[in-house]
Amino acid sequence: VVRAIDLHKSFGPVHVLRGVSLEVRAGEVLCVMGPSGSGKSTFLRCINQLERVDGGELWVRDELVGHKLRDGKLYELREREIARQRRGIGMVFQRFNLFPHMTAVGNVVEGPLRALGRNRSDAYAAARRLLDRVGLSDKYDAYPGQLSGGQQQRVAIARALAMEPYLMLFDEPTSALDPELVGEVLDVMKALAGDGMTMIVVTHEVGFAREVGDTLVFMDEGIVVESGPPRDVVGAPQHPRTKEFLSRVL
Ligand code: ATP
Ligand code: MG
Repeated sequence: VVRAIDLHKSFGPVHVLRGVSLEVRAGEVLCVMGPSGSGKSTFLRCINQLERVDGGELWVRDELVGHKLRDGKLYELREREIARQRRGIGMVFQRFNLFPHMTAVGNVVEGPLRALGRNRSDAYAAARRLLDRVGLSDKYDAYPGQLSGGQQQRVAIARALAMEPYLMLFDEPTSALDPELVGEVLDVMKALAGDGMTMIVVTHEVGFAREVGDTLVFMDEGIVVESGPPRDVVGAPQHPRTKEFLSRVL
């Protein structure tokens, strides 16, 4: 579903991604760890085109992200085509950025009503089913301010799923949560993975990576320094930076 080949990205003089290569197949869960500033968020943001790639190739579902290849030439996609590419990718951020003036169900129906052109009764019915799925059957009409961080994050997951994505990106979805609320969000993500969703999860939750991840990559200074089955990477890290990092988070 996702294939990155020697990806590069700079912000001005700061070379953030310095040749990231990796692959995620349909139904797989890729977990990404690495120190602050190593480029994890930037990588996710390139996948859903919140940032532009400077070099290398980024393929999502057999399409070049942001570009079209025709007769051996690269063309940049127009806005409408970029929107189409982005539509199938759901993203959940560290901070649950819900619309504060909308209820839980209102947040979830927003995308389907506006971007997918669904009719109201279908969109609301689907939104309630999604809120049921993330364990919020009793919170349809609650506003974000009336929900705990864990509940808000589960609404954010339901909202992303409402767009019927084929790929879900999670950027440290539990790191802003009180420790006692982390489990309920990880459980929802685990169930989603169990249902076959393709996911890329930036997380420092080693337990989650071991249990749910198919592959764990460790990023440092803009490159993948280590990659493999989570059990192996966590159990017997090879690279000194991975060892050092894991000894701090474990
Ligand atoms: P963290 O664990 O802290 O979230 P990260 O691995 O997600 O870190 P990124 O957010 O990808 O790291 O940032 C990598 C580097 O890119 C950092 O040095 C950051 O300051 C820089 N950076 C990210 N976004 C921008 C931007 N829009 N403009 C300039 N520099 C940026
Ligand atoms: Mg980040």
